[in-house]
Amino acid sequence: MASFTLHGIPVSRGIAIGRAHLLRPAARDVKHYLVPEERLEAEVDRLSSAIERVNEELRILRRDLPLDAPTELAAFIDVHALILSDPIISEEPLRMIRSRHYNAEWALLSQIDALSAQFDEIEDLYLRERKNDIRQVGERVLKILTGSEQSFPTVPAASEDQYVPQMIVVAHDISPADMLQFRDRAFVGFVTDLGGQNSHTAIVARSLDIPAAVGMSNASQLIDDEDWVIIDGDAGTVIVDPAPIVLEQYRELQAQLLRERKKLGKLKKTPAITRDGTFIHLLANIELPEDCAGALESGAVGVGLFRSEFLFMGHSGQASRTPSEDEQFESYRKAVIAMKGRPVTIRTLDVGADKPLDKDEETALNPALGLRAIRYCLSEPQLFLTQLRAILRASAYGPINLLIPMLAHAFEIDQTLSMIEQAKQQLRDAKKKFDQEIKIGAMIEIPAAALTLPLFIKRLDFLSIGTNDLIQYTLAIDRVDHEVAHLYNPLHPAVLQLLFMTISAGAKAGIPVAVCGEIAGDTKLTRLLLGMGLREFSMHPAQLLSVKHEILNSDLSQLEPAAKKVLKVYEPAAIADAMEKLSRI
Ligand code: PEP
Ligand code: MG
Repeated sequence: MASFTLHGIPVSRGIAIGRAHLLRPAARDVKHYLVPEERLEAEVDRLSSAIERVNEELRILRRDLPLDAPTELAAFIDVHALILSDPIISEEPLRMIRSRHYNAEWALLSQIDALSAQFDEIEDLYLRERKNDIRQVGERVLKILTGSEQSFPTVPAASEDQYVPQMIVVAHDISPADMLQFRDRAFVGFVTDLGGQNSHTAIVARSLDIPAAVGMSNASQLIDDEDWVIIDGDAGTVIVDPAPIVLEQYRELQAQLLRERKKLGKLKKTPAITRDGTFIHLLANIELPEDCAGALESGAVGVGLFRSEFLFMGHSGQASRTPSEDEQFESYRKAVIAMKGRPVTIRTLDVGADKPLDKDEETALNPALGLRAIRYCLSEPQLFLTQLRAILRASAYGPINLLIPMLAHAFEIDQTLSMIEQAKQQLRDAKKKFDQEIKIGAMIEIPAAALTLPLFIKRLDFLSIGTNDLIQYTLAIDRVDHEVAHLYNPLHPAVLQLLFMTISAGAKAGIPVAVCGEIAGDTKLTRLLLGMGLREFSMHPAQLLSVKHEILNSDLSQLEPAAKKVLKVYEPAAIADAMEKLSRI
């Protein structure tokens, strides 16, 4: 067969080379027939017991999660268990068997198809992707009904002296629970037809550090079992049946990447100091207190962004979705203790838009422009005060900074500050300890904020630039819509100007400024940010050592004038040219 290349969405970096192992969806083999009246109850029982078995499987998976499993996995398995227990999946198909005489598989599949069609109507990309969770749950039940449960082959790990081809999973879709199979079975990558940057499988792949490409349309139909496959996780491409010379080139590239990774590992304890002696703070972005272990492992000098909303999302499905003050306090305290005296910047609840609290809630027409983050918190004062008290109480156990997302107006800052004061007073009244001098900062992630910095500098102790949203709002590009992903450009001169204005205003006023959006971990931009004056970078721990490597090879006295040149030009070609020069310094 001739070699061919497929293009998808890069979601997890690195190169994987191996033989394809196809996971076939059971839904394709479903038979449709009508069940005679006298066998209806038996058919209902067949479906009920399949659902019960999947329930049990999920329960066992959840119970036996390895200690080092990515933290998101437990939440994803919970979501699947919740879907399965929803009457819309667990009862409606049973009714269909009784009323329409459909066989169990047919009833279940029709219900899933109907639900999927409803999800297709949803504009919000994050919510639309959740349709796959329903399909994955249905797929598990169908596999039991059709007796087509797929066993994963046991692949021996390659030994030093014997080359054993490794396996790449190719599937229409993979559930996060099935992803667990990866860790023990020498699977080295995966390719799926479905999925996007925010799909659960993509998130799990990143945390497992396995190269992956998703959104490949019909890869699972074009690739055959045992085909040689190369995944270029950085480019989001998959080369099928590569020519021997291409295979050789990628093997070399892969070996080079491994060597680089090993070398980087040695930098863990090296302080991030530029060649001319400036210390740069490299901090970690975390979602749950358990992520602190990875942050320390990467050599982070603190947590620059604790996205507290993930604590709230983990509670979805329970009667009360908001963790209590004590539960929150325990999580924040756990993080601050785990970081052993290093500062932890906790961002207050940033829900709405791509991170809805309640997935069943009616979504606003333009959620990214709606009641998000601080706007939501100010409209729910009791919820906000509860979180503030929990964070403040944890500050008695180690250094905490309080970070407020999505501020744009002076009155929002003032209201927020007075609520923080109120929370402090409540704690004083209750004789509870907290850091009286806790530092309070704002995310600069709305262009209006970057254009009115004096309002922020006068009232707050530090700033943290959220470039993910700053780019979204400056360029009017929905950050989760892959159809406009090509327009999402951190190097747009408007974005660069806002970044520079914020960094230099902070420097002039003598208050710390960090960048905690994705660009902080993009090594192509490290020199530019350093040259603009940035001294605090907060990122996913996996990127920290590569950024440190760039810093160790940088000389600020040379980078500063070169960065100014990038900021002076507007034409894309001129920016690219100035960036090229910056990279060669
Ligand atoms: C950002 O907007 O850059 C940011 C760090 O916050 P989030 O990605 O959580 O919106
Ligand atoms: Mg943001």
